[in-house]
Amino acid sequence: MRIAILGAGFTGLTAALRLTQQGHEVAVFEKESQVGGLAVGFSKPEWEWTLEKAYHHWFTSDDYALNLAKELNYPVIVKQPQTNVFVDNKSLPFDSPLSILRFPYLPFVDRIRMGLAAFYMKLTPRYQKFEGQKALPWIRKYMGEKATKLVWEPLFTGKFGDYKDNIALTWFWSRIKKRTFKLAYPQGGFQSFADRLAQEIENLGGKILLNTEISGLTSGENKISLTINHKPSTTHQFDKVIVTLPSPIFTKITSGLPHDYIQRISSIPHLHALNLILILKKPFLGDIYWLNVTDTSFPFLVLAEHTNFMDSKYYGNHHILYIGNYLPSDHPYLKMTATQLLQIFDPFLKQINPTYHSSLITSHLFLSLFAQPIVTADYPNLIPTMETPIKNVYLANMDMVYPWDRQTNYAMEMGEKVARSAILSERSESKDL
Ligand SMILES: Cc1cc2nc3c(=O)[nH]c(=O)nc-3n(C[C@H](O)[C@H](O)[C@H](O)COP(=O)(O)OP(=O)(O)OC[C@H]3O[C@@H](n4cnc5c(N)ncnc54)[C@H](O)[C@@H]3O)c2cc1C
Repeated sequence: MRIAILGAGFTGLTAALRLTQQGHEVAVFEKESQVGGLAVGFSKPEWEWTLEKAYHHWFTSDDYALNLAKELNYPVIVKQPQTNVFVDNKSLPFDSPLSILRFPYLPFVDRIRMGLAAFYMKLTPRYQKFEGQKALPWIRKYMGEKATKLVWEPLFTGKFGDYKDNIALTWFWSRIKKRTFKLAYPQGGFQSFADRLAQEIENLGGKILLNTEISGLTSGENKISLTINHKPSTTHQFDKVIVTLPSPIFTKITSGLPHDYIQRISSIPHLHALNLILILKKPFLGDIYWLNVTDTSFPFLVLAEHTNFMDSKYYGNHHILYIGNYLPSDHPYLKMTATQLLQIFDPFLKQINPTYHSSLITSHLFLSLFAQPIVTADYPNLIPTMETPIKNVYLANMDMVYPWDRQTNYAMEMGEKVARSAILSERSESKDL
């Protein structure tokens, strides 16, 4: 069977791996010059490892990713880096029951409430119990008004902006449920791991076509036609097509989708991610890896110092700080340059590290489009199915990993699932004949 896969992120790569392992003829089309999708990396001449354009790590509960690494004999590093929260101009530990119990800005009884509520979520095995409820009212009820105002509401505002009051409680449950103190990282970086997957696919006879944008998808008699790079003369035909692109791109390139289907899958809003990366001579956050910023007057949500997770020796002894934000598509930051953004961020960065300027080597700015679907309480009604209205065309994208937060682990798992759906439907059709 000739199968095309659109997109060489972790969903597309895993689908391609599973299908080539089963002997199918697979071609992966990727518009960028590298595989890896949202976890794509870049490098510098003095670096030994690649670095993700947006911060990435695995939890040790990311079983699919860790098992896939094992299957490919790919080394993974596990560490327990420090996570803090920035409250009232202070960076405070916030990643263990003890750090919550010691949290100075809440009365003792509120700390106990927060710890118990988080523990209850962690112990609750199934998300269905929380379906239909909104996260912030639940947090307010069980963790208390003070903890909500001080920690959770600012974090929800930073991450989801105007949508903060509608976020599903299942999303919050999944964040607590799957979070682990220890984190994992593929040696050499996510790009290196994606390259290894791509190499395996090619070894098994699959094709990966980079710099190849699919600009049209049309269904004909028993075949699906793909148009490449906006040139109608370059049309290729396949028996099945797996689309791993964001839904707004799928609906834009595909002919013949019913209007109500387009409307339904387009009703999931997305935020874009912005990462300004500072390359520094010295550490910025001391020995802290992750700092959640709860002061909503700050123009960023998170600081992640990658080299407090992975050793700076792999990056030419540079220290690497991500300044991260999630933004709606009309946000002015999305049109700014790295220099303009650093000018805005600078007074706030100085509140955390007053002398960082003297150690700044350079900065890099990266945007990741459609980076975060907004999981509202009515989300289960909006999730697309893998089967689309077009026969033999399957959709598998980040909007469909519910109730989990979109992560490469679930992208890989979904890649396997969509590959299985495509083959299974073929088998059941042959049986019918
Ligand atoms: C800021 C940020 C932080 C994150 N942190 C983590 C983390 O810590 N841990 C973790 O596991 N995950 C993290 N993720 C999520 C993770 O990166 C994604 O879930 C995952 O990479 C999604 O993979 P995907 O293959 O489904 O989609 P994508 O990675 O979006 O892949 C889709 C691919 O399709 C290509 N494409 C688009 N249009 C076309 C076209 N017309 N023709 C051909 N190709 C096309 C794109 O270039 C892309 O390569 C993070 C994401 C962001 C943005």
